[in-house]
Amino acid sequence: MKLPEYIDLAIIGAGVQALTLTTHLLQKSAKHYRKFLVFDPSQTWLSQWQQQFAAQQIPYLRSPAVHHPDPNPHQLRIFAENRHSELFPPYDRPGTKLFNDFCDEVIRRWKLADKVYPAKVIQILPMERASRSRFQLVLNTGETILARRVVLATGSGKVQFPNWVEKITSDYPSDRLCHSQQVNLNQLKLTGERILIVGGGLTSGHLAKGAIDLGATVTLMTRKQLQSKIFDADPGWLGPKYLKDFHAETDWYARYQQIQQARNGGSMTPDMMLQLSHAANEEKVRIDECCQVSYAQWQDNLWQVHCHDRSKHQFNRIWLATGTRFNVKEHPLLQNVLETYSTEIVNGLPVLDEHLRLPKSNFFIMGGWAALRIGPVARNIGGGKMACQRIVPAIVKSSLAIG
Ligand SMILES: Cc1cc2nc3c(=O)[nH]c(=O)nc-3n(C[C@H](O)[C@H](O)[C@H](O)COP(=O)(O)OP(=O)(O)OC[C@H]3O[C@@H](n4cnc5c(N)ncnc54)[C@H](O)[C@@H]3O)c2cc1C
Repeated sequence: MKLPEYIDLAIIGAGVQALTLTTHLLQKSAKHYRKFLVFDPSQTWLSQWQQQFAAQQIPYLRSPAVHHPDPNPHQLRIFAENRHSELFPPYDRPGTKLFNDFCDEVIRRWKLADKVYPAKVIQILPMERASRSRFQLVLNTGETILARRVVLATGSGKVQFPNWVEKITSDYPSDRLCHSQQVNLNQLKLTGERILIVGGGLTSGHLAKGAIDLGATVTLMTRKQLQSKIFDADPGWLGPKYLKDFHAETDWYARYQQIQQARNGGSMTPDMMLQLSHAANEEKVRIDECCQVSYAQWQDNLWQVHCHDRSKHQFNRIWLATGTRFNVKEHPLLQNVLETYSTEIVNGLPVLDEHLRLPKSNFFIMGGWAALRIGPVARNIGGGKMACQRIVPAIVKSSLAIG
């Protein structure tokens, strides 16, 4: 594909959120088909998503069958007509293969396969051209492109490590301590190993299960007590039940608190809790709740781990399922943009306008970064849909456009 000099809309990232945006945009206005391009170094849609699901051997989604990138909420169930065994109770959560096949079908039906330009955006420079505001995107291929509008859909934020990791003074092989995003269960042999997994979210559960299946014994360590929840945030956050009060709240810090409370760190699904308790009965996993590492050193080919309760343990590997952090100040693409279009930043999250733009700009942000507008589900598939309801009108309706 030859890169044009100018494009009306540049979408950065080809993940679930970006795919949701493109289908919703085309549903409202097919004439926008020629007006946008999506940038992702992987060249294909959903590569990060598929890689993570495969690497963590996740059998099915946490969200129900109505959450997917197509504008018609029933479309996945229709697609699954002859594949009912791949919808898992409760709430028909789609199996990973079913979901991926469905997304392939969405990409085919909306003719989106050739919309991803294979490049990483490395810099975004706001500029004035003939007294109009534009954004210059600099790509890792050395090319540049000018865009009238930009949607940032780059996903999960920056990986978060506990403080004690910085204090490790001994050298260690890099695969012996890694963030959950770097673990690939398909490439490991773990027979007889002891593994420490830190974190109380569903990712810890998937990794623990995967490690046990590969012959390891696991210690799962969590700061708080494990919480059992079907979804990571209550479904009331998808509609007026909770959002009415959330949107009525004018204090951004109070909104931030509501988001934190609703997600309340990580949680496990009841079915994962059950699997872990079976594994605990068989002494394949040990669950250390309300426990924290104080320091760790790599010595004699093992991790020597000291905890706050003064207990000491030895492990072959440590995996940190400690999530990611959304802080716009740390986003590599936002430095120049925020200098030109500054906004209030509340504990790392930007205050965006009703249509998820930085104030007075054509720069839109979706995903977890938009949580002050969308609420606690902003990073999820359902949150992506809610973001589209705000972004798409500002793109297709000239009365809502800026510049
Ligand atoms: C293991 C896992 C399971 C999950 N399960 C569910 C679930 O069941 N239900 C649910 O609702 N949510 C789930 N989520 C949460 C959320 O839906 C996913 O994280 C989802 O992938 C978010 O979509 P996204 O498009 O924002 O980000 P991503 O899917 O991460 O896509 C972002 C894309 O941006 C690209 N990118 C980044 N930087 C640049 C750049 N500079 N230039 C160009 N491209 C760039 C990346 O290559 C990537 O392809 C899950 C998350 C994880 C990690």
